[in-house]
Amino acid sequence: SYSSLFLAVSSRVRVAVRLRPRNAEELVADADFGDCVELLPELKRLKLRKNNWESETYEFDELLTEFSSQKRVYEVVAKPVVESVMEGYNGTVMAYGQTGTGKTFTLGRLGEEDTAARGIMVRAMEDILADITPETDSVSVSYLQLYMEMIQDLLDPVNDNIAIVEDPRTGDVSLPGATVVEVRDQKSFVDLLRVGEAHRVAANTKLNTESSRSHAILMVNVRRSVKGRTEMDASISGENGHSSSMMGSFRPPIVRKRSEGHTLEEAKSINLSLSALGKCINALAENSPHVPVRDSKLTRLLKDSFGGTARTSLVVTIGPSPRHRGETTSTIMFGQRAM
Ligand code: ADP
Repeated sequence: SYSSLFLAVSSRVRVAVRLRPRNAEELVADADFGDCVELLPELKRLKLRKNNWESETYEFDELLTEFSSQKRVYEVVAKPVVESVMEGYNGTVMAYGQTGTGKTFTLGRLGEEDTAARGIMVRAMEDILADITPETDSVSVSYLQLYMEMIQDLLDPVNDNIAIVEDPRTGDVSLPGATVVEVRDQKSFVDLLRVGEAHRVAANTKLNTESSRSHAILMVNVRRSVKGRTEMDASISGENGHSSSMMGSFRPPIVRKRSEGHTLEEAKSINLSLSALGKCINALAENSPHVPVRDSKLTRLLKDSFGGTARTSLVVTIGPSPRHRGETTSTIMFGQRAM
């Protein structure tokens, strides 16, 4: 029946949790204490220890341990999204976790010296470039940073407050002020990511912000010729072979009080996009017909990724150390609400 067909395409967010190993400091300083989380990957469960006696168990779609390779993480978290983008659907891959838990490691590592270390962005582009026909298809990217409800262009830092424009007829969102670069090969893409990252560091130094207060977003646009159709047929049927994908790294608000140089105004706008993202993800998880995308810049940008035939994948990054139990708990709860 139609209703079951509709349910089959409902776009629940897929949620994976990735636990990083203890770092050198945690190995020494917390040597006497057990980890605050334990993963049971076969059961797709995560145990969160409240203390020595009590623990709470949560289910996720995938659990990635400290031994999971970058390749496995890509295959579990991003590959299905990339494949559906290549079929013409929109898709989003998001990383969410406290600073230092592995968002950059998971999404952004370039892996130039060690190809096994390459992160999701580089692997995704490799698959996209392998799949397109250079004569008829194209791939382009924009690289942005969202800070205090301002969108900054990481490929041209002069553009530090890019407007989001929405087509009143189609509802499509675009960023006419953002630099768009056509990607022809993997090397030029890696170079772009490096330039973007350098600009990100410079912008955060200039604004005297920590990168922990900003979110990075890579937008990838894939334009394909529709096989076996003339261009006109394609536009009549609405299949213009155009799809887009976003990859973002989102940092939850800092839980501990660190009020120096941190105005209330700033705190509010840093949290605005994230709480709006949380609300949209909850609405998706509940199959609610109303996803409140208009509440922030981040969710307006991600609008096409919420609902319809879009695919969204969330990887929640956490660390094992018991001293970050509070942050780890709230990150896990964010991931649970998306399920
Ligand atoms: P974030 O982007 O969330 O602030 P990073 O990706 O910069 O965090 O990771 C913080 C540190 O932990 C880095 O030194 C990184 O190399 C290391 N790290 C993160 N995840 C892993 C992992 N899965 N395995 C090994 N080291 C990791």
